[in-house]
Amino acid sequence: MPNEALCNKKPVGVRPHHLMCLYCLKGGGDPPDREKADLDGLLAEIEEDRNTLLTLQTAFDCMGGPTTFPTKHDPATRRKDLQVLRALNLVPDETRCAFWMLGTRLPQSIPTLEGICELGGESGPAWKQCPLAYTGAYEKGLEAGIIPDRPKDEMARAKEESVEEMERLGRLRIRAHHLLCMMCFWGRHHDEPLEVDNLYEAVEAIRENPDIEIELIEGACMICPPCTGYDPGREICDAMCALRDRLKDLNTFHLLGLKPGDVISGHDVYELIWERIPDIKMVCENPGNLIPEWANCGGVSDGRYESARERGKFWE
Ligand code: SF4
Ligand code: SF4
Ligand code: SF4
Repeated sequence: MPNEALCNKKPVGVRPHHLMCLYCLKGGGDPPDREKADLDGLLAEIEEDRNTLLTLQTAFDCMGGPTTFPTKHDPATRRKDLQVLRALNLVPDETRCAFWMLGTRLPQSIPTLEGICELGGESGPAWKQCPLAYTGAYEKGLEAGIIPDRPKDEMARAKEESVEEMERLGRLRIRAHHLLCMMCFWGRHHDEPLEVDNLYEAVEAIRENPDIEIELIEGACMICPPCTGYDPGREICDAMCALRDRLKDLNTFHLLGLKPGDVISGHDVYELIWERIPDIKMVCENPGNLIPEWANCGGVSDGRYESARERGKFWE
């Protein structure tokens, strides 16, 4: 059962440039706002729960308001906050999980303090540089990292237990778009178990018994427990593509004329897929120049779905 306290946890408000200060703290520095913003408490919370939701709060709202003359914070830190938002391609009051912001986006988007905290000299009393500029604390923090990987032994245990459960139940519980990922897996001809998911085991279960019952669901399913992007406390997918994959589930249901909770045999659902989803772009393509949360999966363009259709249905 998912941990209710974790599932109901409220987002924490944080100033955008304080995300960077967390790296300076991690790198051994003593940020000026350390106590006022309880940066030690925030760092400990994120290290304990990588899916802590963070709402980025600045002197401004998403329109640059609420008034003509900002009253909160000083100009130098207001500037830093906006620079961080710009680098992350976000606006004030957006909420993201710590894992996405600090595990990937911030380290990739802001690899140094240049132009943000390191300004090449003082330009006036209102623009005093932070004492941690040019100390290397930020870079040391980036190198150490803030978001720990999911422990390998926990993933291995989850693999063993989830495969046992699939065998014991004798039926499958699969999120809708994973039926298509199973085809992409089949199209790559890697016919052996993977450490980080149960795609192989789900395909094998249908190969052995095409009449096996499949309960179709939305969200994380039997294929997910050993994955690096699985949050066992909340029993959700926490990969950057989690929201994009929610849409894929619903696209799949829509195209197949099915709904969450439906139970159908492996044979029947793949007959439907064969007939109604000839092209994976119908489900998985996200057109346009998108932020990382909506980026396309490689399978949209590398031909693995087409290759699965050429290979034939699992049981043929
Ligand atoms: S150098 Fe910048 S990121 Fe580091 S503690 Fe100072 S204000 Fe924060
Ligand atoms: S393109 Fe990617 S997400 Fe879509 S079905 Fe294939 S592997 Fe899954
Ligand atoms: S990335 Fe998410 S949906 Fe895909 S296997 Fe991992 S946990 Fe499941």
